[in-house]
Amino acid sequence: MPERFECDQCGACCKGTLFVEADDLDFEREPAIKDCDPFYRDKSVTVTRELLSDGMRVIMLAGGTDRPCSLLDCENRCTIYPTRPNSCVGMQAGDEQCQMARQSLGIPPLESVKDV
Ligand code: SF4
Ligand code: SF4
Repeated sequence: MPERFECDQCGACCKGTLFVEADDLDFEREPAIKDCDPFYRDKSVTVTRELLSDGMRVIMLAGGTDRPCSLLDCENRCTIYPTRPNSCVGMQAGDEQCQMARQSLGIPPLESVKDV
């Protein structure tokens, strides 16, 4: 049986240890993500949409210079959870990126949940 993990909401994956990118579809679903990226913060929704429309640009929510995602609240909860970008949806507790992010912040590896 494969190992099972439960996210313990350490928040490491959103705190700039990983690059978190979003594309135009993510932006259409949740325009608030543009304010995470200093490049788009002062741009309007219309201008941001135009810039993203060529498919060559992304919005950087976190990462690069250990920049945390500004949509993470002080209790390590995602404030846009239902409409978060696909890259965030794809993040799986206990996967390689999760464990790497934890290690970067000195958090012990997430242990698998033992079935009872
Ligand atoms: S690093 Fe892993 S355990 Fe921590 S919040 Fe992200 S998915 Fe959950
Ligand atoms: S959008 Fe939510 S899940 Fe994605 S990096 Fe920001 S706080 Fe984390």
